[in-house]
Amino acid sequence: AMAGAGGQVVRYDATLERQLSRRATVAADLRRGLAAGEFHLLYQPIVNLPDGRLVGVESLVRWGDISPAGFIPVAEDTGLIVELGAWILDTACAQAAEWRHRHGPDALRSVAVNVSARQLLDPALPEIVAAALARHDLPARQLTIEITETAVFGGGRALASVTALSELGVNIALDDFGTGHSSLGLLRTCPVDAIKVDKSFVDGLGGSPQQEAIAIALTGIAETMGLRTVAEGVETAEQAQRLYELGYRQAQGFHFARPLPAEAIDEMLGAQQNR
Ligand code: C2E
Ligand code: CA
Ligand code: CA
Ligand code: CA
Repeated sequence: AMAGAGGQVVRYDATLERQLSRRATVAADLRRGLAAGEFHLLYQPIVNLPDGRLVGVESLVRWGDISPAGFIPVAEDTGLIVELGAWILDTACAQAAEWRHRHGPDALRSVAVNVSARQLLDPALPEIVAAALARHDLPARQLTIEITETAVFGGGRALASVTALSELGVNIALDDFGTGHSSLGLLRTCPVDAIKVDKSFVDGLGGSPQQEAIAIALTGIAETMGLRTVAEGVETAEQAQRLYELGYRQAQGFHFARPLPAEAIDEMLGAQQNR
């Protein structure tokens, strides 16, 4: 311990200091990596049940072999996510337009992009999205923006952004649905087109009625409200089968496909056309 500025005793915390300096290093590295073109997107298939037909993809950012959990939080805290996010939006729209051009206008219903809480607080976000759509001549309905409940929970600027995006014609999907504090309430205030039912509820399928209850309730609510439902994190054939029995018609997860490079999606679309 040592004396602080006001004479009070301040505990010198080496761990915190290490974390802060690591954070600063990662932030500087992120900025450099973005300028050097070190980021790329993978695309995870979203499929129709029960036939497994490809109906959409979710874009997932990669920085070399570092997973998003290792850099998205730092990018959010430092505000760099705004710049990185604009690059992600532009890249995903360019890719969606290319697939449209190659495989026909409705080969994929939509391409989903994750947008973080920090991006929703940026008043320029709707313009950034509109510009990316226009640049690549992509119809707004073929872009889905995935947001988390916590990001829009407070209303205000974030909710205004989501409303503006929805008015552009972009689809809004609530990600990790059911894990927040206000999941159901949000469906009344936020313009939502789809919910992505969190993996934790998919994991409970095939278990007791209690474990399955939320997965069952959520499709009922979604159906009544006219929302598209996607089950996330489907890892087994049994889960896929059970989801279908419960009325789920769209799913995503390692059972169907891992996040893949754009070329692999290209091949799937090509094969699907000739079926
Ligand atoms: P998320 O949006 O919930 O994305 C789904 C995550 O679950 C992805 O991890 C995906 O690879 C993983 N996943 C998919 N199917 C399965 C499965 O069957 N089993 C298991 N165990 N996992 C599965 P990833 O790519 O590591 O991304 C993690 C999180 O990082 C994402 O969670 C999202 O919150 C964030 N993220 C990823 N890409 C972006 C991005 O471009 N922008 C922003 N703002 N956040 C992103
Ligand atoms: Ca997501
Ligand atoms: Ca999710
Ligand atoms: Ca998640």
